[in-house]
Amino acid sequence: MAKKSPPQRRPHAKKAKNATKSANKSANNVRPLIWISLAVIGLLVLVVAINQFLQGQDGQPVQYREAPSLEGQPVLGNGNAPVTVVEFGDYKCPSCKIWEERILPRLKEDYIDKGKVRFAFINVLFHGEESKLASLAAETVFAKHADAFWTYHHALFEAQASSHDSRWVTKERLVELAERHVPDMNLEMFKEELDRETALPAVETDMALVDKFQVELTPSVMINNVMLPDPFDYEAIQAMIEQQLEAAK
Ligand code: CA
Repeated sequence: MAKKSPPQRRPHAKKAKNATKSANKSANNVRPLIWISLAVIGLLVLVVAINQFLQGQDGQPVQYREAPSLEGQPVLGNGNAPVTVVEFGDYKCPSCKIWEERILPRLKEDYIDKGKVRFAFINVLFHGEESKLASLAAETVFAKHADAFWTYHHALFEAQASSHDSRWVTKERLVELAERHVPDMNLEMFKEELDRETALPAVETDMALVDKFQVELTPSVMINNVMLPDPFDYEAIQAMIEQQLEAAK
């Protein structure tokens, strides 16, 4: 009868056990890393999805939690109108000139003049120094002679050069436009204000709104808290205004 051999310890079992222990230990070290990596990847996917949503890449209106604050902004029309339309625009931007000429007059006739909509313009500085200078001039006119703001605003777009690259925003031109369109303006003082950039805080307020509402294109148009995917689609503008008027009842 074969002698029952005693259970044999596996050679280096202790070592192996230790190895397993250390493998477990390193697995334990690796596991949180895997979870952290997964969490980071998940977060990145979420950020990309939110970004795409906010950019309205699917051509849908993008809804924000709130409408832009109009504090310190020029407002055209009835200040208590139930619906607010905001244009984020740039005096140097050719599309903004087109929007000013084609869309704003319709908006004015259909809604602003009827007291249903108040309209505000917020400066975007996508074209460098000239954008900034034109914004400073407009904000200075607004600060000194608010009643002449919209005339000056319109004159700035009218003065826009047909060639996008030509430099037309100069202090001389801005003073000349003020002389013609803001009769009460002290031109010496106006020029000094431009030199000293006294309206810079107002321009910076606008820049902060541009950041807050992630404006990437000019013009960008918001109706209350909704950013439209296409500011030139007047039917969509009307539909959104009607929807918001209904909601305000
Ligand atoms: Ca402003």
